[in-house]
Order: sequence, then structure tokens, then C-alpha cells
Amino acid sequence: MTTKWTNVKSMKTGRGVATGIASDLGRFAVTTMEIPWKLTRDKIGGKPAAVIMVESMELEVLERELQALPQVDTIVTIGGGQACDFGKYLAWKRGCRVVSVPTVVSVNAFVTPSAGVRSNHRVQYLGSVSPDPLVIDYDLIRTAPTNLNIAGVGDILSIHTGTFDWEVAHRAGKDVHNFDADDVCRARAILDDIDRNAAEIRSVSDQGIQAIVDAYITINTICLPKDHYRTEEGSEHFLFYELEERLQRPFIHGEIVGLGIYLMSRLQKNRPEWITSLMDRVGLQYQPAHLKIRRQDLAASLRNLRCYTETAKLWYSNVQENEITGEWIDEHLKHLQFPA
Ligand SMILES: [Zn+2]
Repeated sequence: MTTKWTNVKSMKTGRGVATGIASDLGRFAVTTMEIPWKLTRDKIGGKPAAVIMVESMELEVLERELQALPQVDTIVTIGGGQACDFGKYLAWKRGCRVVSVPTVVSVNAFVTPSAGVRSNHRVQYLGSVSPDPLVIDYDLIRTAPTNLNIAGVGDILSIHTGTFDWEVAHRAGKDVHNFDADDVCRARAILDDIDRNAAEIRSVSDQGIQAIVDAYITINTICLPKDHYRTEEGSEHFLFYELEERLQRPFIHGEIVGLGIYLMSRLQKNRPEWITSLMDRVGLQYQPAHLKIRRQDLAASLRNLRCYTETAKLWYSNVQENEITGEWIDEHLKHLQFPA
């Protein structure tokens, strides 16, 4: 099973499948947050030896909780990306089993082996664990806000602009990742799966949730062996990094990546109408009005993007080849909606 799902050892999917999962785990601890714990505490069965409410991903907080953690056989992670990463870190350090119960599919933390941990204002990816099982309870996931679940497609649709940028780097002789046309081809096939399931994703149906989970797992089968995410990370992410640094506030990852896809597919002249229509059909919220990004900030970010990617030594992309002029900005921000 490990080969099929890469790092996911086993998977349990269906409506209500989180019910009773903890009844045969031996001694277990839970990493969670207030809302997901309220939803699941009476359903999972068994009584945890410890419940850790995740408030921070700072390394010193993780280490403190690790010291205080009683002896357990299993860590059960219940919640979104942080609850999941926190539990992965503890399970990795203790060398114990981890069961992952995502309550939202907005980020891919529940299928990646390492945990995003903060130290000295930087995020590091530490450890390597595999959920056994990964529990995809459709009913539980549907309790999360719809736009958060749909935001899960942002890091999948970024394959469209990410693979294009990888090709650009390869053609320019600037690729640092050993370009693989087969990886690009397999990644683009995931976009077709999302296209076929667009209406299901929009309505957050069982099939729509599963399409997002399957896409994450397939991306991992491509990316984990290579140890890089070049097929889904390109200039659309670079624009987000610039904006995040400029505006100094968090965003819903998949949504701001969506704005990056909108703009960078246009800079690339890479089927922008198709990918925009797909973002609209799945219901991804990527408009600056929704993200509360003012026109002048987005324009400044775009003007600075080439300089930013070069200073930060980000991968070579279409940003190095196509100049973002004032005229280009006027033309391409015209059809976006901005805050009043
Ligand atoms: Zn991403």
C-alpha cells in the first residue's frame, strides 16, 4: 500500500469513518484545536492520555509539549494543517504511530511526511512520518467552511503555472531540478481530473473531497521521490511570497495562490481563460476583493516581482523572461475585483 499512496500507509474513507477510530489504539494523545475537538471528542472512542491544543508551531513550544507528553502508543491528529503538523512532529520524535484525521482539506499537511515548524521566524520542514491510517471522513470535513475546503485546489491548480515555469527554466538552461518531462505530463493529468470533478468540488460532495485528496496523493507520488515540488510551485507562489512579505499578514494559502495563477498564467500566455474558468467552476475565491488586497499593493508587488525573485534567489521562471510593465499591470488588473 505504501507504494500506491507514497507516504500514506493506509487510508480509511467514507461518511462517519472517524467514529470509533481511537477505540483500538492503545494509549493515545490527541493534537487538535478547539472546534475540531468539540466535533470529534465524543465520537472517536476511547479516552486520550493527553489532549494538546495547538496554538503555535514554534519549535520551542513543540519541544515543551514533547517533554510533557506522557508515554503513548499513538498520536491522533484532528484538525487542519497545524494540528496535523504538530502531531507529526511529536510522533516522529517519539517514534510512534500517527493517525491523521483532517477536518478540512485546505492544505496538504495530512499527506506530506514532514512538519512545518517555525524557528527564528523561518519555517523548516522536519521529520518523516506516515499516517496509518489517514482518515477521510466526508461528513466531518464538510463541517469546515466551504471556501476553506475549496481552497485545497489552489496548490493543485498551481501545476498549470508551475510546470510551465519549470519548462521555461529548462529551456533557458537555468533549471536546478533535473527537468523531467514525464513528471510534467503526470502532473498535468491531475489538472484534467480536477476539471472533470469541478462541480463536485464546488459542492464539496464526497467525490469532490476525494478528488482533492487523491490529487494531493498523486502529486506526492511525483514529488516526494524527487525531493522537490517544482511541478506545483512556480511564479504563482513567488507572487504570494512577495505579497506576504509586503503586507505582513497571513492568507488562506490556496486562495492567494489562485490569484497568482490568474496573473502568472497571463504573463506566461499559458491558456489563462481555461485555468481562470476552472478556478471559477470549482468556486475558488481568488479575487483581491475577497483577499482584501488593495490595487496599489498588488501593482507594487507585481512591479517588484522580478527583483524580489532574484534577491530571494527563487527558481528561474517566466518572471525573468517577461517584463511586467506598468501597461501590463493596467491591462491585467482591469478585470479583477478590488476592495471598495
Ligand atoms: Zn503552496
